[in-house]
Amino acid sequence: MNNILVFCEITEEQQIAEVSLELCSKARKLADKLGSRLDAIVIGNDLKNIEEQLYPYGVDSIFYVNDPRLSFYQTLPYFSTITKLIQEETPDIVLFGATAVGRDLGPRIASYLRCGLTADCTSLEIGNHTDVKTGRVYENILYQIRPAFGGNIIATIVSPETRPQMATVREGVMKKEIYNNNHKGELHNLKAENYISDSDFCIEIISRQIEAQKVNIKGAPIIVAGGYGMGSKENFALLHELADVIGGEVGATRAAVDAGFAENERQIGQTGITVRPKLYIACGISGAVQHRAGMDQSSMIISINTDPNAPINSIADYTIIGDAMDILPKMIKSYKSNML
Ligand SMILES: Cc1cc2nc3c(=O)[nH]c(=O)nc-3n(C[C@H](O)[C@H](O)[C@H](O)COP(=O)(O)OP(=O)(O)OC[C@H]3O[C@@H](n4cnc5c(N)ncnc54)[C@H](O)[C@@H]3O)c2cc1C
Repeated sequence: MNNILVFCEITEEQQIAEVSLELCSKARKLADKLGSRLDAIVIGNDLKNIEEQLYPYGVDSIFYVNDPRLSFYQTLPYFSTITKLIQEETPDIVLFGATAVGRDLGPRIASYLRCGLTADCTSLEIGNHTDVKTGRVYENILYQIRPAFGGNIIATIVSPETRPQMATVREGVMKKEIYNNNHKGELHNLKAENYISDSDFCIEIISRQIEAQKVNIKGAPIIVAGGYGMGSKENFALLHELADVIGGEVGATRAAVDAGFAENERQIGQTGITVRPKLYIACGISGAVQHRAGMDQSSMIISINTDPNAPINSIADYTIIGDAMDILPKMIKSYKSNML
């Protein structure tokens, strides 16, 4: 059984991206199931502490390509490097974050290698597959699981014939988990010139404009989320007030974002952010499957809804039936007085 390879993305702060550590955590479990090695490819310039960052997540080998020209992401040199490494190491499975970078690289590499790729997987498992036509059994292949047809079904997609099996996974979907703080692997320093040619640098970066992230919903321990039932952008101010009092962030459904009640970067769900806060307060949210996909792993859920039969209530730990515009001011008042 061949190895699993995770493409590790580098942040603006020159650290391994959270999504890559999440992928390594999941890939480690898959590798243990397969009895295979977990490899990571890191591309950058003069990166510090990559071993310390990756080994605790169970990485066995790091393939590091270091070159001043690779300081910032560019499609062609990254594509050439990863493709060549895949051809050399012949991994069975290759995983990317479903970020702008992963979405640029994954399909390009899969198309070049003529293998399958499933985008935006919400789960990855190992199992057997029987071809119903031929009866042939494929053992220990990657189940690439994701919602399909607008979230109405959960599809399990397999690529039994071609290798590597490739998938992208959104940030926050897999849980980042330390495997073993004492785990150690091997670092392979690869010569960039063996992977990249000068023609890969045909695009010259003249200037880079970076805008810092304004909201950090993913890392927030408490999320006060609002849906279309909040009725207006002005009413969303109540959510911000409550979030300020209890130290949380404000999230939103797609319907609320589409209605202009909240900014796009606050959207939680299948096509938004996936969150796992300690507390999720869902206000005026019906609980459509596409929204639940992004928040149902929250430790505790409180739903505030006028409709006792709203689907969100079936996954809520506590349900308050009533008008959010009556209940939220009372909660704010109560928290404020308790915190004095
Ligand atoms: C491909 C696809 C991807 C999608 N991705 C996402 C996604 O990432 N995230 C997402 O959220 N959605 C997503 N959706 C949309 C999703 O299907 C739902 O339409 C959306 O989540 C509904 O948002 P909502 O709960 O705010 O609105 P509604 O479904 O309209 O629910 C409003 C709720 O508010 C309650 N309410 C009304 N007035 C009050 C009041 N005064 N006080 C308290 N409660 C009140 C109502 O009883 C109701 O339950 C996606 C859809 C598709 C097809």
